[in-house]
Amino acid sequence: MANKSVVITGGSRGIGRACALIFAQHGYDVLVGYNRNKTAAEETLAAASGYGVKCAAFCADISKKDEARRLISKALYEFGKVDVLVNNAGIARAALMTDVTEQDFSDMFFTNVGGVFFTSQAVIPEMIGAGGGKIINISSMWGQVGASCETLYSATKAAVIGLTKAMSKELAPSNITVNCVAPGVIDTEMNTCYDKDTMEELRVRTPLERIGSPSDVAGAVYFLASNAADFITGEVVSVNGGFVI
Ligand code: NDP
Repeated sequence: MANKSVVITGGSRGIGRACALIFAQHGYDVLVGYNRNKTAAEETLAAASGYGVKCAAFCADISKKDEARRLISKALYEFGKVDVLVNNAGIARAALMTDVTEQDFSDMFFTNVGGVFFTSQAVIPEMIGAGGGKIINISSMWGQVGASCETLYSATKAAVIGLTKAMSKELAPSNITVNCVAPGVIDTEMNTCYDKDTMEELRVRTPLERIGSPSDVAGAVYFLASNAADFITGEVVSVNGGFVI
């Protein structure tokens, strides 16, 4: 029997890489999407291939509809189907709201929301044809409660939650579940903009008293993709060490 297959946007590093590894470990064929960082994508690929599954990496800027479509086409070419889509790619930029430019607004909305929308649009007909599928979107706890100096980022991540809920209702009759994971502070390159003191403050504010790891998030994503989550849709799973309760 053919392996199940997963497409992970932003699979080159951070949370996306951890997702690629957990799916490969469980026998999934994996397509690693990335934007610029080919070397990192190849490192993910090498690590995932170590589990003896089919893996490929593909460069596609998911903020552009055509490129998102090409990412899904590549997966169909490589694996013949897409059982799971993990919409993980995202960007963050800390700034006072008054300093946010129109370009920032467009870049962040098209990447964080457009990317989820366009990649899902491309995969939905395939999943419907296959009789079902699972889509997992990565939001953020800041999309749940908002963050000062991250108004734009918070707005995009709140939009991902709204999109997840609407998609789950529209796609449930096609046996496609759509869920969302909202991570807290996770140790990835995304947070290298914060200095040591800020990271320590965030750690102390986290009831479990540690910064999360990419594999903390990947575990929840894998659960939502598994048969154990077949009756879960439209849900937001918080992986934040208790930061937001
Ligand atoms: P990283 O910055 O470590 O990685 C971001 C990934 O997204 C990279 O693989 C990058 O590709 C890819 N990417 C960025 N823009 C695009 C684009 N336009 N098209 C395709 N791929 C793109 O981020 P994290 O692993 O930390 O974050 C992953 C997700 O989790 C994001 O959606 C983020 O908002 C969310 N999140 C992260 C938290 C954290 O504390 N780290 C907390 C809450 C949510 P490339 O390597 O080629 O640049």
